[in-house]
Amino acid sequence: MKTALVTGGGRGIGASICERLAREGYRVYINYNESETAAGKLADRLLAEGLDAEAIRADVTDAEAVRRMMGTILAKSGRIDLVVNNAGVSHYGMIQDVTDEEWDRVFDINVKGTFHVCREAARAMYWNRSGRIINIASMWGICGASCESVYSASKAAVIGFSKSLAKEFGPAGITVNCVAPGATDTDMMKELPKEASELLKEETPLGRIADPSEIAGIVAFLASEDAGFVTGQVISPNGGLVI
Ligand code: NAP
Repeated sequence: MKTALVTGGGRGIGASICERLAREGYRVYINYNESETAAGKLADRLLAEGLDAEAIRADVTDAEAVRRMMGTILAKSGRIDLVVNNAGVSHYGMIQDVTDEEWDRVFDINVKGTFHVCREAARAMYWNRSGRIINIASMWGICGASCESVYSASKAAVIGFSKSLAKEFGPAGITVNCVAPGATDTDMMKELPKEASELLKEETPLGRIADPSEIAGIVAFLASEDAGFVTGQVISPNGGLVI
């Protein structure tokens, strides 16, 4: 059975990705940091449906915790076929007001967390000479967002990092791609001022924000056999806001 790890899988887009991958036949490890109850409930619900899932805790900013998490997965499943780096946080505010602590928090989770998980995944995937890594960036990492400069910079870093890894891992049969969602209906969107989220909807050609399942669908495609020759790419489901 193919094995997948989804970071930040207990809620939001990550939970939708976990559910979709479980339905595609993966044994899914649902990583969480704070959302123990939500991750546990999701695993129980999937198991009750005869699917295969397990919640596993690690703070992705903690290199040692990530190493232990991957060790547990390899001990239990013997392999890791797919890693989805979904854990992330946003930050809204003008650059004059951004503190060093806020900058570090966003980069520690969004960029360093992705690095920690990719490093462990690569060590395991190299043995199999195959694997898929999918990093969740953001459309703002492509085009930049006013008042979200720290977040945009972190997601641009994720895109650059992923393109480099695609070149480095290609010869080992490992693909690395990014999904760069537009505004999506999760807790993260609630952190935006109401006027900003209304404006986003208005400016989006499709006139709405995404459902998390629509992001999960792109992840499922990149994980599928059909995407075997796709690497180093950024697919941005954003309703046409960024073209
Ligand atoms: P969300 O609902 O706020 O969920 C954030 C997730 O990140 C949670 O599962 C959380 O896990 C996890 N996380 C945060 N810090 C963590 C840490 N240190 N270690 C492990 N997990 C951690 O956000 P979302 O909208 O689902 O976002 C998921 C991804 O999509 C993020 O990378 C985000 O930047 C990206 N994205 C979202 C949107 C959007 O409009 N929603 C648009 C573009 C891109 P715990 O609760 O367990 O701590």
